Amino acid sequence: MIRFQQVSKAYRGGRQALQKVDFHLQQADMAFLTGHSGAGKSTLLKLICAIERPSDGKIFFNGHEITRIDNKQIPFLRRNIGIIFQDHKLLMDRSVYDNVAMPLRIELASENEIKRRVSAALDKVGLLDKARCLPMQLSGGEQQRVGIARAVVNKPRLLLADEPTGNLDAALSHQVMQLFEEFNRVGVCVLMATHDTSLLTTHNYRRFDLQQGHLREVARRGA
Ligand code: ADP
Ligand code: ADP
Repeated sequence: MIRFQQVSKAYRGGRQALQKVDFHLQQADMAFLTGHSGAGKSTLLKLICAIERPSDGKIFFNGHEITRIDNKQIPFLRRNIGIIFQDHKLLMDRSVYDNVAMPLRIELASENEIKRRVSAALDKVGLLDKARCLPMQLSGGEQQRVGIARAVVNKPRLLLADEPTGNLDAALSHQVMQLFEEFNRVGVCVLMATHDTSLLTTHNYRRFDLQQGHLREVARRGA
């Protein structure tokens, strides 16, 4: 699904965010990405969806090298990737429905298709009855679930989450994890950057740890 080969990223001004990172994830994987603030987690996620480009090395997505795809191809790459942010980045002046519909509208899906898909996605996160609400009328946990519905509405093969539980209490964090597990069970690859030690101790998934741009896989408990 994803393969990094000796990937380095230096930002303008010389900040070395990633150094010779090697790893791969399979379609069936669910994995954590850990590391202190500034270790390079967001950078790694941004490279996968070509928000940033690596300075060196190669990145493959489903066997295709995406490192040097041209800008016109980026929307096609992103169709396969759902992204979830800590601050969910919802449009506050649009309804829950319109927020979730956004990726489908960008793809120019028909209104019928949009209606069917948005309903399915909202149903999955338990928010079908909130479709007409504005995000402001929802709790923090519900807003995050809207962000998740938006990320999965076009059935991506890969879900990237950047500190998705950063603003949630323990119970809501576990709810979000359960949703990710359900997507993973139906074949979605999930990569989740997190600081949340309670999730790490209760969920024994693959874990990649970044330290100042260097990545290593942490052995799973019991492995
Ligand atoms: P994390 O997500 O683990 O907190 P980041 O990937 O955001 O780490 O950052 C890794 C390093 O790259 C940090 O030193 C950060 O300051 C630097 N960095 C991140 N984004 C930029 C940018 N757009 N320009 C310059 N430096 C950046
Ligand atoms: P179908 O096209 O099979 O009728 P729907 O369009 O009704 O399915 O979508 C079912 C829901 O499954 C989606 O809205 C989404 O929440 C979730 N989903 C996301 N990604 C996938 C995936 N890769 N495979 C299966 N279900 C997914």
